[in-house]
Amino acid sequence: MYDPLISSSAAGQPLAASYWASTAELAPVREPLKGHTQTDVAVIGGGFTGLLTAWYLASEYGREVTLLEANRVGFGASARNGGFVLKGSGRLGYAQMASRWDLDTAKGIYREFSEAVVRVEDIIRQGQIDCEPQERGYLKIAHSAKAMATLQSGADFIARYMGQGAEFITPERLKSEYLCHQQSFGALRLNDGFGLHPLKLLLGYARMAEQSGVCIHEGSTVLSSHREQDGYLLHTDNGSVKASTLVYAGNAYTQQGLGDMLSGRFLPILSNVIVTEPLSQEQLNQAGLHSHQVAMDTRVLKYYYRLLPDNRLLFGGRGAVWGRDADNPVYVKRLKQAMNSAFPALASVELSHHWHGWLAASLDDMPHIYTDKGAGYSMGYCGAGVSFSAQAAWRLAGMLCNVKAPALPLYATPLPSFPMASLRRLGQWGFYHYGRLRDSLG
Ligand SMILES: Cc1cc2nc3c(=O)[nH]c(=O)nc-3n(C[C@H](O)[C@H](O)[C@H](O)COP(=O)(O)OP(=O)(O)OC[C@H]3O[C@@H](n4cnc5c(N)ncnc54)[C@H](O)[C@@H]3O)c2cc1C
Repeated sequence: MYDPLISSSAAGQPLAASYWASTAELAPVREPLKGHTQTDVAVIGGGFTGLLTAWYLASEYGREVTLLEANRVGFGASARNGGFVLKGSGRLGYAQMASRWDLDTAKGIYREFSEAVVRVEDIIRQGQIDCEPQERGYLKIAHSAKAMATLQSGADFIARYMGQGAEFITPERLKSEYLCHQQSFGALRLNDGFGLHPLKLLLGYARMAEQSGVCIHEGSTVLSSHREQDGYLLHTDNGSVKASTLVYAGNAYTQQGLGDMLSGRFLPILSNVIVTEPLSQEQLNQAGLHSHQVAMDTRVLKYYYRLLPDNRLLFGGRGAVWGRDADNPVYVKRLKQAMNSAFPALASVELSHHWHGWLAASLDDMPHIYTDKGAGYSMGYCGAGVSFSAQAAWRLAGMLCNVKAPALPLYATPLPSFPMASLRRLGQWGFYHYGRLRDSLG
């Protein structure tokens, strides 16, 4: 199991055995990089961020782009996620942003997050990407009465300062119209989230990038990147690339030591997903699953779930702390138990798929898109990157071509370094214990 904080590289790994991989048709394998080549921009990583940054650089700025992916495109989080398109990224609420910075900054970030969803929808339309977008609606399910009150005050803040309303759903309405979650105290429904098939989206991005001239090499792990006088020199197993500009888009899958600008600045966290066999209409009725809108609860250690187009339930939550434990069946078992507690009627339903993936958390709970000396990165989406990666890629491509991004902390400051970075995992372990305690108290 690849662990970005331990393993020397992600080379030689298959795509995750996800529901997504079992329901998408992959393109033929692309040739790895061989020999030496030169390009305007080298992009490391073939997930949403790398593919879209490459696409924007080629299609809007006319740059020659070479993208290097360690395995197949979609090996990373982009084809392992829940497929929730949400208006937001990172982990901060807007009131928290306003008190950390100021109200204008919070409004500016809200605008970026809003544009991200529109951007994804525009790209889907432009590229005619058949990625199965589902009905709109994102349900934030309160797991306690206190959580409902917190949700309400967050929604009031957004309504007052950002001008967007949210709909309150009483526990009774939630059960009769949306889903009968046994531990819910009502929900807040936002109209701008939806579910889609993330691997089909990614394959669409890859096609669009290639159509605009991006050269993608798969099976090409970048083992080192060095800054030289006139650009960057990258080495893979079988080749090397000289580029004037470099994009680090390996996100949580970036191995330790690749690029000083990322060192000690993110924490890879495992998230697990389980998917059931298709549910019959009777099972849906018994479980009280009436909607294909996406849902997430308000716990510190959150669970997220959605009905897929073929009526399987996808249910996700935290995984192991250390990569060596990732495949321990206990994590699938715990997730299934959490699903059973939420929807007891599904207790005897079999799982058809389970997998896990790394997401990158930042110390300040915010993504950062940053450039310096002809190199740049976008990461730290904290588990919410399906939509924001599109806006981030657009901004990153612009910043690398001297287009100014709005003066927001998202774009102006690098990812903060973790103090005592080697102890990040111990901190995470402690946080999980705290989270479990907090969640049990309501
Ligand atoms: C289980 C799970 C569920 C999630 N659910 C959601 C969700 O529902 N909604 C949401 O908004 N977000 C979700 N996320 C987060 C979201 O998937 C990510 O934020 C997003 O996909 C990040 O995209 P990326 O392109 O930046 O990185 P990735 O998709 O991780 O891509 C990075 C790529 O870089 C490659 N790479 C790394 N190092 C090298 C190297 N040295 N050389 C060459 N290639 C390299 C990797 O192989 C990988 O393919 C989830 C994440 C996980 C793990």
